Amino acid sequence: MRYLSTRGHAPVRSFSDVLLAGLADDGGLYMPESWPQFSADEWRAMRGLPYPELAARVIAPFAEGSISYETLLELCRDAYARFDHAAIVPLVQVEDGLFVQELFHGPTLAFKDMAMQLLGRLFDHVLTERDERVTIVGATSGDTGSAAIEACRGRDRLTVVILHPEGRTSEVQRRQMTTVLDANIANIAVEGTFDDCQDLVKAMFADAPFRTEMRLSAVNSINWARIAAQIPYYVYSALALGAPDREVSFAVPTGNFGNVLAAWAARQMGLPIRRLCVGSNRNDILTRFLNANDMSTREVAPSLSPSMDIQVSSNFERLLFELLNRDAAACERLMTGFRATGKMDVPDEVWSSARELFSGLALDDQATETEIQRLHRESLYLADPHSAIGVAAGRKYREAGCPTVAMATAHPAKFPDAMRAAIGVIPALPPALADLYEREERYRVVPNRLDVVEDAVRIGALHNAR
Ligand SMILES: *Cc1c(COP(=O)(O)O)cnc(C)c1O
Repeated sequence: MRYLSTRGHAPVRSFSDVLLAGLADDGGLYMPESWPQFSADEWRAMRGLPYPELAARVIAPFAEGSISYETLLELCRDAYARFDHAAIVPLVQVEDGLFVQELFHGPTLAFKDMAMQLLGRLFDHVLTERDERVTIVGATSGDTGSAAIEACRGRDRLTVVILHPEGRTSEVQRRQMTTVLDANIANIAVEGTFDDCQDLVKAMFADAPFRTEMRLSAVNSINWARIAAQIPYYVYSALALGAPDREVSFAVPTGNFGNVLAAWAARQMGLPIRRLCVGSNRNDILTRFLNANDMSTREVAPSLSPSMDIQVSSNFERLLFELLNRDAAACERLMTGFRATGKMDVPDEVWSSARELFSGLALDDQATETEIQRLHRESLYLADPHSAIGVAAGRKYREAGCPTVAMATAHPAKFPDAMRAAIGVIPALPPALADLYEREERYRVVPNRLDVVEDAVRIGALHNAR
């Protein structure tokens, strides 16, 4: 499988190259040259497979020419071995025709583990083959950083340096990062905001000598391999509910549009998906787009679902590219205009074709709390604020005879304050994290200055080399 950029100016590359590169050189996102297809019989043959085996089968065509099925299977088995539920991605029924699929049974209790656990192993595999090392830098407001750290800890070809805004992540989120004491992991608390951290990461990548010296790499949500690793769980639940002989719909709480894009990819591969419901919080750009073709950015406002406090959903560019029939020049024009003005003039026919499949629902904090209470009262189900938004979107757009599966993206114990406020219950942390509040933390606090942060990254890499 070969990959091309949504902006059309970057060289076509292999799966392994795209894995290590992340973003394309022309600022675009990599897309597979064609969509692998599975026939109805091939889908049926995957029913009942253990999750790691199903995942390897679904991902294999994307990695073709770079990584063999046997290797992929081994990496998938290892990636999901530490999940704390035997089904890996269990399906729970909450109402007639409405299900929840739990994606939070990995080591950091959020759905980022689904892709990141595999990504860490893929990086390690490819770097070993090439006898190379890289330094992964990233900025996090919470979930991504801890998922990357957990996935890469102890791998000596990878140094991971994660920037977080000092005092602005939740305590659970900070401790999940800072209590990992492996030599290849460094945490930097920046005196600033999440946006400052992101700007520092961008500036490090733009500093060409530094980028080369440190062999910088990224595992952010625009990495194609992350999307590929998120496709299998849609297949898993669709098959369990009767696909390919019956259609299913999915509801996905959405920030960067990566998770729901994976569902869309599954549909491109032939999985019969009727509808994709996108849930947002008050940062509702996607819902405004779907309801009124209003793709305009506003200030990011904090909410009960911080992992969705996003105004520019980077992976939307991939859908746009497809809806433009892969016209890279048109895609580039729209994206450049969007960056310059904060508003995208999406052609009406593109908007209409998006609406044929996607529906959007935005919930403010009050409505999110009401949904958490309703699920607790009527279904004895504990949903965190992100997951509750997904369920509400799924209920709103569900159709008779077509099961709807809402993605539960975080464990409720990750958001104790929101849960206590909504239902007066603080869910217990799973056993593996029960002593999180007693563990030793290690991180370095630095001012919001590029030179100081670059030095801290150098020190992190040196520490690992020793
Ligand atoms: C990252 C995240 C999301 C948003 O997923 P995207 O792929 O960015 O749309 C939703 N919920 C939780 C808990 C997350 O960590």
